[in-house]
Amino acid sequence: MQVKQKLCRLQPKITLLMSLIVVGSMAYDAIETPFGKTDWIVGGAATYVAYAASNFVRPINQVSIVGYDFAKEEMDELKKRGVNLEGVEIVKDKKSFFWSGKYHMDMNTRDTLVTDLNVLGDFKPVVPDSYQGSEFLMLGNLAPAVQISVIRQMKQRPRLIAMDTMNFWMDIALPELKELLVMVDVLTVNDSEARQLSGEHSLVKAARAIMKMGPRFLIIKKGEHGALLFHEDQVFVAPALPLEEVFDPTGAGDTFAGGFIGHLAHTKDISFENMKTAVIVGSAMASFCVEKFGPTRLKEITRADIDARIRQFVDLVNFDIKLV
Ligand code: AMP
Repeated sequence: MQVKQKLCRLQPKITLLMSLIVVGSMAYDAIETPFGKTDWIVGGAATYVAYAASNFVRPINQVSIVGYDFAKEEMDELKKRGVNLEGVEIVKDKKSFFWSGKYHMDMNTRDTLVTDLNVLGDFKPVVPDSYQGSEFLMLGNLAPAVQISVIRQMKQRPRLIAMDTMNFWMDIALPELKELLVMVDVLTVNDSEARQLSGEHSLVKAARAIMKMGPRFLIIKKGEHGALLFHEDQVFVAPALPLEEVFDPTGAGDTFAGGFIGHLAHTKDISFENMKTAVIVGSAMASFCVEKFGPTRLKEITRADIDARIRQFVDLVNFDIKLV
């Protein structure tokens, strides 16, 4: 018997439709890894999602908040990539959200050194009228109450709502998080977060428990060990590209989410089969993100680079077996 895996149909064009809303932080970060240090680089979950997704779908309807210090050049760079900033509030007398982290030698764990909420502390996102009718919604990691307020503003429920979250919200806002989980279709978390949320050590049991909380699709990210996609009784495993050097993992999860939702919004196909491809696209985008500090590498890559990287992923898991 021959078993052939066909993972990917490459999609060469960008879809130009008002179809994707991205909500999340836009920030400045200070990052230290075993390979270097930067005191001031643009970051934020929504920034990474937008850089990744804009390779597949435009415009990206961004909802965020920044302070007076957010550079015009960074805004222009995003606009050039089809990111619509009408939903990004600029607060004239406050600084942008600032986050600082230091990675350990294994690059899978990090210490958060500083979280200065600044403008993010008062973030009450407003979805502009022109964003209404968007079919896809990506909620980056934010307080669950803020994520809920965005869903409630949508006059028509998007076809697919995906969200990210983190252990912090499980610790301090579990009731709101559970209320939100019922409202979404896709949840992305890492393995330790999946275990915390479900109280199960086995990721298969954890997935089953989390899907009972609401999301029909669950993605569990495992850093350098790839990602798992769960839906009903099905599971798909995507590898991470074995890279010689991971320079800076900041934003890799958000970049994964951007590639994933960007591919879905481009193809408008939310079947489990197409989500498998979306997970590979997300993994490919994340593999670029970690190659340089912050979103630097995401700003450099071309569509040809992305296609070549996706092909590498397909080759990585493509095999023929003869069962005797
Ligand atoms: P990740 O590496 O995927 O966890 O994403 C890192 C990005 O998330 C950084 O660019 C930070 O600016 C941003 N970030 C860190 N903490 C928070 C938070 N509490 N709320 C929103 N964004 C955050």
